[in-house]
Amino acid sequence: MSFATRLQEVRKIIAQSAEKAGRNASDITLVAVSKHHPVEAIQEAIQSGISTFGENRVQEAMEKQAFFEEHPPSLPLQWHLIGTLQRKKVKQIAGRFTLIHSVDSLRLAETLQDVAEKKNTSFNILLQVNISREEQKHGIGAEETLSTAKTIATFSRINLKGVMGMAPRCNTPEEARPCFHTLTELSHLIRKAGIDAPEISMGMSADYPVAIEEGATIIRIGSTLFQSAAGKA
Ligand SMILES: *Cc1c(COP(=O)(O)O)cnc(C)c1O
Repeated sequence: MSFATRLQEVRKIIAQSAEKAGRNASDITLVAVSKHHPVEAIQEAIQSGISTFGENRVQEAMEKQAFFEEHPPSLPLQWHLIGTLQRKKVKQIAGRFTLIHSVDSLRLAETLQDVAEKKNTSFNILLQVNISREEQKHGIGAEETLSTAKTIATFSRINLKGVMGMAPRCNTPEEARPCFHTLTELSHLIRKAGIDAPEISMGMSADYPVAIEEGATIIRIGSTLFQSAAGKA
């Protein structure tokens, strides 16, 4: 199956899930998670009209960015950082990512603010919330999300765009629904506080239809599009 065929299938499911929830499919941004996949795979995706890619490692992302700087693609590309960001790497990423999904502490946000000031730039970010409440998962606790958002919203060089979350590993996508619901509720709380941060990044290959039903505005799809060995739904 080609990338184009898999993409068509994903787009169909996005449309169905949006319709089920009374939402517009055009309000949902698809991020193609190209981590671990070579630039050739990304080129195939670009030929299918994809221009937004998610990477979880700074080094790998920057190598791919460098490739496409040397080999300009037919579409301008947008890169989203979706993986854990270490504070010592913030300096390297200034100006390199359209959106950072994985800001998982106030300390990291402070570092981003400092670096942005020094480099006279800014960062678009999402607050990563630990909606699964698993110890090993990154993210801010649900209880602290609103207060952290309020603090970060005052940072001059940070544009807080919304929240991001990952469901726990579930046996069925339905089990992820309460986690997604929690994230959407937190997003509403943040907006009620007067912070204009409407994005909700949630949903991966295994659970994006449920995430869309629960309000996702950004979904991050890797294995289903790039057909990794994982063999998930
Ligand atoms: C890998 C990854 C994805 C994509 O997961 P798939 O199951 O391959 O669709 C989404 N979000 C994050 C944060 C990831 O690390």
